[in-house]
This record gives sequence, C-alpha cells and structure tokens, in this order.
Amino acid sequence: MIDAQISQQLAGLPLGGVRFFDELDSTNNEASRWIRQEAPDMALVLADHQTEGKGRLGRKWFAPPETALLFSLVLRDETVQSTDQKTEENLIITAMRMTALGALAVCDSLETQYRLYPQIKWPNDILLNGGKTAGILVETHWQGNYPPVVILGIGINIASGSVPSDETVRFPATCLEDALGAPVDRFVCLRVVLENLIAWRQTLVEPAFVKTWESKLAYRGEWVDVFEDTGTEMVNIQQGRLIGLDNLGRLRLQDDRGSEMFLINGELSLRAVQR
Ligand code: ADP
Repeated sequence: MIDAQISQQLAGLPLGGVRFFDELDSTNNEASRWIRQEAPDMALVLADHQTEGKGRLGRKWFAPPETALLFSLVLRDETVQSTDQKTEENLIITAMRMTALGALAVCDSLETQYRLYPQIKWPNDILLNGGKTAGILVETHWQGNYPPVVILGIGINIASGSVPSDETVRFPATCLEDALGAPVDRFVCLRVVLENLIAWRQTLVEPAFVKTWESKLAYRGEWVDVFEDTGTEMVNIQQGRLIGLDNLGRLRLQDDRGSEMFLINGELSLRAVQR
C-alpha cells in the first residue's frame, strides 16, 4: 500500500510500478528480487529505511528511519551501449554511465529546487560543501545476452539523523537540510530527482551528457589520490591532476610529466591531495 503523500508526488510520472516499504534490507536488493519477477522498465522501489543499505564492494550505507530518501529504479536500456559484446569493460562503462545519470539527476535537483551547488566525487558520490550527501549504487544484471538490466540505487541524506558519525565513515558526511538550513520534504525531492532523471535519460548517448557530467566534477584541476579497495585495505594506486572525463566517462588524470591516465574501474575512490 503506497502512502497517499508519496502517490501524490509520483502522479503522472512514467513509472513501471511502485513498491514502497517502511523497512527493507536494501532497495537495490528488492529491485533485484523484482527483476526475477520480470520488473518492467522504470519500476521504482522506495523504502523509509534500510537495515542493510549497501555501498560499493560490500560497504554499508547508513539510513535510519524517516531521515533519508532511499530508492532504486530498474532500467532496461538498449541505448546505453553501442556494442553487444558482453565484456567486463562494457559492463563497467554501462555502470559508469548509469551512475552518472543518477548523479546528474541529483545534482540538477539540488541546484534547481534548492539553489545549492553540489559536486560529483567521481564516480558515485554527491558532495555539498565538501561533505557526502548522496550516494549512487548501480548494479547490473545480465539476462540472456543483451542488454543488461540496470538497478540504479540512490540514497540522499535529508535530515541530520541520516548523517553517520565521523568515526564510522571514510569521508565527511552531511545532509540536505544542514546545507540548506531549512526543512526538506523527502518526497518532493524524490519527484524532482525522478523528473530530472527521466529528462537526462533521453540524452545518455549525446556528447552533452558527458560534458555536463564533467562540469560538475569535484576536484577539477586539483591533485587527487586514487585508492583501490582490495577488500582488506585501501591501496593508493595513482596520484594525478584531475583533468576531466573522456567521451566514455572515464576519469582523465595527468601526472607530473603530463602523461594522461584513464580510469574506468568503478571501485576506485578519490581523495584530494594537499600539495
Ligand atoms: P566510498 O564513497 O567511501 O568510496 P561507497 O561509495 O561504497 O564508498 O559508499 C559507502 C561508504 O560511504 C561507507 O563505507 C561509509 O564510509 C560512507 N557512508 C555510509 N552511509 C553514509 C551516509 N548516509 N552518508 C554519507 N556517507 C555514508
């Protein structure tokens, strides 16, 4: 049963169905279960809170009741790939593009609805005033050969109760209400993010998509360390100046001698370097 307030906010959107839960393990997990029952394109899973919210590589996403906006969309998209090759690299590029779709939709919403200045910490975090406010988690399912079914999970910290304590996070966190200094209706925010996502999805394969994505990157022109999570520790694998993105959405870094590096691995994390 969908709460009346939520269904009012979702009215008229081209969704493939909505499942709302007071409590879920994770909205991405529920979307995955729904896909096994043939979830249609734009199927939406919403939860008031998650007991096992997911970050990348088995990391946790903290989301207590009534404080965050948590949802996942099922996207059956034939436009995102120009090849039918089921390679690891294609899968990563698809996931990167879909992550950017979520990130752009969130950024646009925070800008237009709340007049804030969010930035994207490549590949999957949204920052406000240097603090992590939202995270995107894309998971891809191959069904048969092609195309992949994508789960696009978005978690946005709305009220201060959604912000994890400093000791529990690897990067400072914040929330929308703290950045704004005013209360935010989670479901108004949901509607705006969905509207933006639907609009950006039309432009996924256009060069303007990558250009806009690039224009919102945090640390552009700055030196960053790139860390890879081995499962047991974070290993610093690169250091370079962040130049931007190439046309696939790979991160372009330049080293001291001007050589360029292109990063695609969706499991990397960036940190600014103090030089
Ligand atoms: P990272 O951004 O650290 O590379 P992920 O993108 O996988 O990693 O996000 C998961 C990480 O985000 C967690 O390990 C934790 O440090 C942090 N985190 C968890 N919940 C929240 C939240 N609600 N707000 C901000 N940061 C969070």
